[in-house]
Amino acid sequence: MSIVKKPGEASKWYLPGILTGMGLTFKKMMGNLTKPTRMQTLNYPEEKFQYSPRFKGNHVLTVKKDGSIRCTACMLCATNCPAQCITITAAEHEDPTVEKYPISYEIDILRCVFCGFCEEACPVDAIRMGPEWQRPGLARSGFNYDIQYLAYRANLKGGIPSRVDDQERHDAGI
Ligand code: SF4
Ligand code: SF4
Repeated sequence: MSIVKKPGEASKWYLPGILTGMGLTFKKMMGNLTKPTRMQTLNYPEEKFQYSPRFKGNHVLTVKKDGSIRCTACMLCATNCPAQCITITAAEHEDPTVEKYPISYEIDILRCVFCGFCEEACPVDAIRMGPEWQRPGLARSGFNYDIQYLAYRANLKGGIPSRVDDQERHDAGI
């Protein structure tokens, strides 16, 4: 049962409601100007939100000590991807100790749901999800990440860990 209240005399007039709303907005504005640290918003892009270190952002294909990519083109990430946005083309490696490697590895990032299944499925720690979350672009083609972007983009030289050494993994018991 719903109870419908009879509107009071004051609610028949728009002006008191408008003035109350404007008063509230003015009060909030003064509060924000005098105590900016309490503001709920950021001045993006000058200020950026700091996510937790566990944040799963843009993908990174990790590399070995010599700079070659670790991926062995086993297809486990592509098979486990629920969005089916990973496309890999495998080839035989010249080095007989390396079974396969990807001549092409692409992620259609507009289809990706950032679930992290690819990272979880990889048996050799060849794909990780890093801290980057911004990826502006003007054309759809810019959202197809290839090996060059995934493993060698400029940001990876500036602090995002992308080099994984087997000996270090072994020492850490991974
Ligand atoms: S994060 Fe999820 S959806 Fe995105 S590429 Fe990896 S498995 Fe696919
Ligand atoms: S990134 Fe990992 S799971 Fe995906 S194909 Fe390469 S080795 Fe396999």
